[in-house]
Amino acid sequence: MKIICIGRNYAEHARELGNEIPENPVIFMKPDTAVLKRGSDFYIPEFSNDVHYELEIVLKISKGGKYIQEASASSYFDEIGLGIDFTARDLQSQLKTKGLPWELAKGFDGSAVISDFYSKGDFDMKNLNFSLLKNKEEVQDGNSSLMIFSPEKIIAFVSQYFTLKVGDLIFTGTPKGVGKVSENDILEAYLEEKKVLDFRIQ
Ligand code: ZN
Repeated sequence: MKIICIGRNYAEHARELGNEIPENPVIFMKPDTAVLKRGSDFYIPEFSNDVHYELEIVLKISKGGKYIQEASASSYFDEIGLGIDFTARDLQSQLKTKGLPWELAKGFDGSAVISDFYSKGDFDMKNLNFSLLKNKEEVQDGNSSLMIFSPEKIIAFVSQYFTLKVGDLIFTGTPKGVGKVSENDILEAYLEEKKVLDFRIQ
């Protein structure tokens, strides 16, 4: 199983980090050891003093394929969930300055928190609300209609380079409002009205 992530897929988030709006999706990956399932606490790694949450809609690939056309891409995922792309922002900034890959800042153990998955047919994929609360206060609030690249565009783009396999996950990018986590913070994520993540920072 591989985890493919999209960077800068919401204009206001790209702006908040001082990045340009991309012409093509910005792609990076996390190893399968990054997965932290619902119900586990997240431990801040010792190499960072600035770990940020990024709440994202996650697609679960249900059919393998390569060179998938945008028009048929929706048949390659049946289920969606939410995930948090934890990012060591201090380390990422150092790597970006040197023009180096982001993996150390994005792919460490526990950096891919994932909820359970739900049938996409139960949701309006074109108008899907999701939000993150930190210590009961809303810090992120997104809607799928604000994505620069739709799930179908992402699948078409990515599958030119990587064969998609059943069970692969795609993190579709975070809306504005990213921020730092501290010990004892409680994070709760909602997909529409449904609470799908609820865990503590250690
Ligand atoms: Zn992200």
